[in-house]
Amino acid sequence: MTEVIDGEAVAAAIRSGVSDCVETLTASGVRPGLATVLMSDDPASETYVSMKQRDCEEVGIEGFHVEIDPDAPASELYDTIDDLNDREDVSGILVQLPVPDHVDKRTVLRRVAPEKDVDGFHPENVGRLVAGDARFKPCTPHGVQKLLDAYDIETEGADAVVVGRSDIVGKPMANLLIQKAPGGNATTTVCHSRTRNLEEKVGSADIVVAAAGIPGFVDGSMLKEGATVIDVGINKVDADTEKGYELVGDVDYDSASEVAGAITPVPGGVGPMTRAMLLYNTVKAAGLQHDVDVDLP
Ligand code: NAD
Repeated sequence: MTEVIDGEAVAAAIRSGVSDCVETLTASGVRPGLATVLMSDDPASETYVSMKQRDCEEVGIEGFHVEIDPDAPASELYDTIDDLNDREDVSGILVQLPVPDHVDKRTVLRRVAPEKDVDGFHPENVGRLVAGDARFKPCTPHGVQKLLDAYDIETEGADAVVVGRSDIVGKPMANLLIQKAPGGNATTTVCHSRTRNLEEKVGSADIVVAAAGIPGFVDGSMLKEGATVIDVGINKVDADTEKGYELVGDVDYDSASEVAGAITPVPGGVGPMTRAMLLYNTVKAAGLQHDVDVDLP
């Protein structure tokens, strides 16, 4: 029987643990706060940001939101980040990506104070992750790690294949899987757009993390019997629905679930975990900034 990994349930448990952390912080006189910054009029980005604000409200994190006209000079965004870096009531800062073309993304990522970089994208935090001393693990791969743990899927000694090498998913995912630490110790292969014999590599894996951004890219015929399949993909495809589209993963669920030992659905798999881990990083940031011990979930 294929086990369906319920990301909604695991994320709910993480949020509950985050609420407890908020109580601990509040009892010490600290109210954790997350600032979101949006410099875009893309409806998807607007939706993501408003969902993150709603999540904050649910667990008692104070939400702050700044919107910047996408045509404004880049300096307006940089100044906003500087202000948020200086504010006592802001524990974490999230600049919703992508930023407009005239804004240098690298400058944005470096501008956020590393102590408030709850996305974990600042080079200092990337370096710490690689060195095995992570401050903030990036939310999506950390969420995947939590899902594997929740379902007792052994990573130690496992052959893992990550499909995708982006800075926000593929690379940090592979880095977490190779760490000599719980949730790591996997023999990890990273596949990307120039990989030869990808089917062979995926077919030898005990754990497959699909993050290529291609609908249905990994199907059942490529998988080893019993493999754990984690589908990170969220792809909009035309469909005969009210909205005219539907969201599908990078895994062809129907064929993959015939072969996999465990599999995440889309939606309801990795997506809710990404959101929950942002809250986790925000209370972690508040605890570190104010020297309050929080019992992270
Ligand atoms: P990206 O476009 O930055 O990276 C895609 C990666 O896939 C690249 O590294 C590329 O080398 C690789 N790739 C492309 N074509 C390939 C091929 N033919 N064979 C092998 N590898 C190939 O995307 P991303 O930001 O890493 O996101 C990947 C997917 O995950 C997208 O669908 C995105 O929407 C989704 N996503 C989901 C969450 C979540 O919370 N569930 C979070 C972030 C991203």
